[in-house]
Amino acid sequence: MSGCLSSHLPVPQSNPAPLTWIRPRSGERCRVIDWTCGCRSVVYELCSAGGQFFIRRTVQGANRTVAETSRGREGETRKLWTALLTGRAR
Ligand SMILES: [Zn+2]
Repeated sequence: MSGCLSSHLPVPQSNPAPLTWIRPRSGERCRVIDWTCGCRSVVYELCSAGGQFFIRRTVQGANRTVAETSRGREGETRKLWTALLTGRAR
């Protein structure tokens, strides 16, 4: 089944770098720069807020949970994002 426009995460490589997920800050506005496809139960978004960058992970469903990485510079966070999308981090 195709028709999806956004990326899907591949199966992770054998030893993906573990990302550290923390509780999201509440009530903060952020700009979503890139995202993975919403057809999956877990959606990842590359976000920026206040000049800093982070990745947000949303587990969809009845027990929707949101977590995010710590803030970083754009270059570092884009590297993590690329690693996530290529199965080198999870
Ligand atoms: Zn999809």
